[in-house]
Amino acid sequence: MAARDYYEILGVRRDATKDEIKKAYRRLARELHPDVNPDPTTQERFKEVTQAYEVLSDENKRRMFDMGHDPFAPSGGGGGAGGFGAAGFPFDDIMNAFFGGGQPGGGRGPRDRVRRGRSIKVRIELDLAETAFGVTKDVTFPTAVLCATCQGEGTAKGTHRRTCDMCQGRGEVSQVTRSFLGQVMTTRPCPQCAGQGSVITDPCADCAGEGRVREKVTRKVQIPAGVEDGTQIQLAGEGEVGPNGGPRGDIFLEIVQRPHPIFERRGDDLHCTITVPMTAAALGASFTFETLDGTEEIDLRPGTNSGHVITLGGRGTRHLDGSGRGDLMIQVDVETPGRLDEEQENLLRKFAELRGEDHPPGKFSPGHGGLFSRLRDAFGAR
Ligand SMILES: [Zn+2]
Ligand SMILES: [Zn+2]
Repeated sequence: MAARDYYEILGVRRDATKDEIKKAYRRLARELHPDVNPDPTTQERFKEVTQAYEVLSDENKRRMFDMGHDPFAPSGGGGGAGGFGAAGFPFDDIMNAFFGGGQPGGGRGPRDRVRRGRSIKVRIELDLAETAFGVTKDVTFPTAVLCATCQGEGTAKGTHRRTCDMCQGRGEVSQVTRSFLGQVMTTRPCPQCAGQGSVITDPCADCAGEGRVREKVTRKVQIPAGVEDGTQIQLAGEGEVGPNGGPRGDIFLEIVQRPHPIFERRGDDLHCTITVPMTAAALGASFTFETLDGTEEIDLRPGTNSGHVITLGGRGTRHLDGSGRGDLMIQVDVETPGRLDEEQENLLRKFAELRGEDHPPGKFSPGHGGLFSRLRDAFGAR
């Protein structure tokens, strides 16, 4: 048997497919690569992992290893693969396969200095009627706008950006280090120009070279009918201008609905309660009532019970998709008179007598509306 188990080193099963082996190596190489993690024990492990991949990714070498020969063993069981090092080991191929040829010369060039601006979140408080029917509002918020003086260039009038002398405009600088791999060239964004390849020598006085300035902006916004608390409206491309005149981010308007003194909103329906005296519930009555659409007359039929709901169809908020409106629901709460004076008490006793209710038996029924049935309903049982 070979001294080292390459399957174990890569953390794959003996029957792993080529693809699984490649994935396992890619994952380990990312975390152990000397550019990421230069510490010596990690480098040793990286070497080990790469050897394991070299063997298991090659059909012949893998078969040999499966038969008990280690292609990398010092005794050289495996036809001239040689030791790990400069000679014979196709390290560059592997590196290129995984790190996109990020070796000397393959520079990416200067970075784009124009970047997209940030998106802004703006909260706007609205009354119920405004969310129900829609409204046009002036919204003021801080943002970044294009510098009018330099038109986003960031340079003072009559001057231009100068090619960075540290990187000669390439935007990146390279450094050669020695490691177990031999010489390794690493490439990083140029620190002097932040990878942009050019620098501003005379910055614009108004934006200090940023190409944009901070400003408070007021904008008219059309809020559609039917929005509710938490609804977000995206105004694409109306957020901050990016550095150096980059494209604008977005504005996200978040609706905050102020509570209404009477109506509670559930979806697009509105709910409220009307409390009426027992006599009105028994005899019937009419009330004037302020809806979102104005004053309306509400008729209470004679003999209305507590808990009865009067529905005014189409008096809720508009649906956001424009398909109509929700309803307005008024729940009736009948108030039983408390303290009675002598005359009232006598009248009520007389009334009870006339109704044959002077010795009321009370009516018991199986749990309707009681605690148990409410619990049952809440849990969805029948
Ligand atoms: Zn400027
Ligand atoms: Zn530079």
